[in-house]
Amino acid sequence: MRDRLARLFYGRNGIDKLSTFLWWVGLALLIISGIVRRFGAGAVGYAIWALAVLSIVFSLIRIFSRNVSKRAAENERYLRAKDSFLNFFRGKKARFDQRRDYKFFKCPECKSMLRVPRGKGRIYVTCRKCGARFEAKS
Ligand SMILES: [Zn+2]
Repeated sequence: MRDRLARLFYGRNGIDKLSTFLWWVGLALLIISGIVRRFGAGAVGYAIWALAVLSIVFSLIRIFSRNVSKRAAENERYLRAKDSFLNFFRGKKARFDQRRDYKFFKCPECKSMLRVPRGKGRIYVTCRKCGARFEAKS
């Protein structure tokens, strides 16, 4: 059994994070389409079902693909996108947790997030990334 599996995946991309993600998205969409159709929205339900099938088929195609370098590049792009998506929410949470002690500003030049202690009145903020200075109320 293990030999057969090894032979099946030989020279192929195999299961990576992107394929796993697509697989779970497909399963989730299948369940959602079932619920939607139960509530009578047939056309919408079938559209979601089609998306689910597409996602699962795409996942399988990637797993059995022989173009390993191209699939690895896709996987890399997916991981980066996922990271910046999660960082966006981590940043929001961090700012929320620190909101009583710090005030946050976006640098007008480079858009990076700057943190200053609260309660210092009007101050000059210097961006530590690009060196831009601007006045702000802490
Ligand atoms: Zn800046």
